[in-house]
Amino acid sequence: MSRILEQAQRRRTFAIISHPDAGKTTLTEKLLLFGGAIQLAGTVKGRKASRHATSDWMALEQQRGISITTSVMQFPYNDKIVNLLDTPGHEDFSEDTYRTLTAVDSALMVIDAAKGVEARTIKLMEVCRLRDTPIITFVNKLDREGRPPLELLDEVEKVLGLHCTPITWPLGMGRDFKGVYHLLEDRFYLYSGDKHRVSEIETIDGLMNPVLMERYGSVYQTLRDEIELLQMAGTEFDLEQYRAAKLTPVFFGAAINNFGIRELLNGFTEWAPPPQGRASTVREVEPSEEKFTGFVFKIQANMDPKHRDRVAFLRVCSGAYKRGMTLHSVRLGGPVRVSHALTFMAADRDVVEEAYPGDIIGLHNYGTIAIGDSFSEGEELRFTGIPNFAPELFRRVVLKDPMKAKQLNKGLDQLCEEGATQVYRPVANNDIVLGAVGVLQFDVVQYRLKDEYGVDSVFEPVQVHTARWIDCADPKKLKEFVEKNDTRIAKDHYGDLVYLASSNVNLNMAKERFPDVRFSETREHG
Ligand code: GDP
Repeated sequence: MSRILEQAQRRRTFAIISHPDAGKTTLTEKLLLFGGAIQLAGTVKGRKASRHATSDWMALEQQRGISITTSVMQFPYNDKIVNLLDTPGHEDFSEDTYRTLTAVDSALMVIDAAKGVEARTIKLMEVCRLRDTPIITFVNKLDREGRPPLELLDEVEKVLGLHCTPITWPLGMGRDFKGVYHLLEDRFYLYSGDKHRVSEIETIDGLMNPVLMERYGSVYQTLRDEIELLQMAGTEFDLEQYRAAKLTPVFFGAAINNFGIRELLNGFTEWAPPPQGRASTVREVEPSEEKFTGFVFKIQANMDPKHRDRVAFLRVCSGAYKRGMTLHSVRLGGPVRVSHALTFMAADRDVVEEAYPGDIIGLHNYGTIAIGDSFSEGEELRFTGIPNFAPELFRRVVLKDPMKAKQLNKGLDQLCEEGATQVYRPVANNDIVLGAVGVLQFDVVQYRLKDEYGVDSVFEPVQVHTARWIDCADPKKLKEFVEKNDTRIAKDHYGDLVYLASSNVNLNMAKERFPDVRFSETREHG
């Protein structure tokens, strides 16, 4: 086996999807703890906090008390290398969250046992479905009273359309929570409620072990009944079905007390897919290829206050990155020397010596790299499937000082390339309309326009309900559509035509009147 293939097959690159408060941060911390990447739970937040204090950009985060930025954490587990891509945790999320999901090979879905499948999870699952991303499920907070586990699985099946295969099953819940039964190992892992415990915990082998009835009585009987129901329903684990995103293995636990994490990590590292082939404009690129390729899925500003530049997050798709290597930017059609790419270890950011398919490296970016850019060793291929999403919120930008129009345009173009916002320029007037998927994005843009470009601006409400990229096989029909609707047509940052609908009714009418025009909710970069 080639070294590249061997390294690629060790990689497990994933993100956590969940609704706010389900326990994503807690679980992240515990995964790092069990992965040996941090010594004591709690240091993730501590480390972040100290960094916040030293950066203007982070000052906004601190002010809002939330985490806007996305980071990448790498740690070894068993014989695998795990890359965990963190997504913004706040309710009000941005396109970064979506795009991060295009850079992973699988996802971990966290569900609060008391709340079940919530809105944000549904939305993120829709994004996962675009690429058939395999999902492992963790039902969290079993130490609290929650909904019956069978009901939760039923909800996952009905609402998310994912067939569930429980790998562990709870023995009691809330005050009666005693542990979990591992269906594949035929073993009980017992719960002590000890927060600080990561060492071995007590186990009992065998579903029928008589000790269980003696100790746990009716709680055990309930589990027996439920397991019987599961067996009748026929929910065996099937690796192929999981990797085809049709089935989700389900684990139960209480992240806060470190419970259920090790079993989850063992299942995850064993089953989650290593990097797969990826579609590009010319061919499918296999991770085992000798030549380096990758794409940028995210750009982040001022992570390090000492460097006032931006960092582009690149996912390696094939080959190997070696320190000092020269990469070819397909969009710019030229070489980009990468003298010191960053790697993301849980401990800190560091200089990378080598990176393999599935790994994420950070490239210093002085405005020459945009989201969706592909890099190679010279081949003209562009990775597809890194979309812009149709925004759901819109504002008109008004300058306080009209003399600053040039700076405003420059700032907005750069922020747009980073994916911080989308910019639309209506064809019929000189307005500038911004689009976002979360309202917080506007605050960020306004703050950064002032802080980085010295532009004071006001964002006003605007009569736009939704945006669709438009195109048509027949250029005449497209022209007719544009002429008839010129007050609602704009160009995006890349010069593509967008229809700014004032309402759903308005959008549907436009579709009915011009059936040949295609209205798209996503636009591919490039
Ligand atoms: P996030 O918003 O998804 O990142 O959620 P957090 O990890 O910040 O957790 C939200 C709240 O749930 C916090 O108060 C946690 O302490 C709590 N929490 C997380 N996991 C558990 C758990 O297993 N049991 C209980 N009882 N609380 C938990």
